[in-house]
Amino acid sequence: MNQVIDNHGRPINYLRLAVTDRCNLRCFYCMPEEGIKYVPKPHLLTWEEMERVIRILVRMGVDKVRITGGEPFVRRGIMEFLEELSQIEGLQQINITTNGVLTAPLVPDLKRIGIKSVNLSLDSLDRQRFFDITRRDEFPNVWQTFEALQAYNISTKINTVVMSGKNTDDIIPMAELTRHSAVSVRFIEEMPFNGDGAHEYQEFWNYPRILDELKKAYPGIYKLPDPPASTSYNYQIPGHQGTIGIIAAFSRTFCGTCNRLRLTPQGQFRTCLYDDGVFNIRDLIRQGLNDETLQTYIYEALQNRAKDGFEAEARRKVGVVSESMSTIGG
Ligand code: SAM
Repeated sequence: MNQVIDNHGRPINYLRLAVTDRCNLRCFYCMPEEGIKYVPKPHLLTWEEMERVIRILVRMGVDKVRITGGEPFVRRGIMEFLEELSQIEGLQQINITTNGVLTAPLVPDLKRIGIKSVNLSLDSLDRQRFFDITRRDEFPNVWQTFEALQAYNISTKINTVVMSGKNTDDIIPMAELTRHSAVSVRFIEEMPFNGDGAHEYQEFWNYPRILDELKKAYPGIYKLPDPPASTSYNYQIPGHQGTIGIIAAFSRTFCGTCNRLRLTPQGQFRTCLYDDGVFNIRDLIRQGLNDETLQTYIYEALQNRAKDGFEAEARRKVGVVSESMSTIGG
């Protein structure tokens, strides 16, 4: 197996695959409330096409896949797909990002399939605030998912987007979850991927600001070493079982070690979250190209990869970043 390396010397071993653009929540920072134009089904990659691309990537040295979306569990056939992926030799890790609305009853099967780590998106522990942010009253189901993941000992990261005027009062209660659970709570800077391009902040909660808030409540909070290619700056509160991470997603301070590729539900390859797609692999597959040629396309895209998210954004052909994360795969 050859490990593919990009034009900036970064090994690429991680794919984030958005299996659908559909979602059962309407988080205001991600999707508009109404009028969403979902991709018609024939335009989506089929499960077979996705599996084929993953097999090619594994031959190029990708050993980790994150399944995301949209909400992965709203697409029919997801569990069978995960089962298929779990059989691919060389694919060491299959992780999932979910909003947890439909996930709790599936946790025993996820455990059986061998899913070791789940990122659960949860922006508030308060049912009303959860509703205000997501426009759906689903907090109890999400919480059941959290409890099921703990019960089945699946490593859990909670992702919380920090938004001024919305959930900054949740920062400390979220951090408290790490007291008795070995969970990793990650606070994420809000990004402009909300489906309509609007990007107004009362004030911006960036990494230093979030850290200050934590330090006020926990003066002893200390820095942990960050694993290679980590997107989060990691911390721990003395005596707590879990850890805290802060992801400077908007400040983009972690691009130097970026090891990831993205594939959208309609087959667009992205070598950066902030680019607008480097080529469409669905079209190439449906033209009948063989694996070797597809591999060459992927390789070439990686040899022309932007140095960081700012360069990727500047190179965009279609203007400012405004598409929803649900269409890119958060
Ligand atoms: N439906 C799944 C979920 O909720 O986890 C997976 C897809 S969702 C788009 C993935 C992650 O992207 C979520 O944690 C969500 O909070 C995050 N996200 C979406 N829009 C964002 C934005 N504008 N800024 C920061 N994070 C965002």
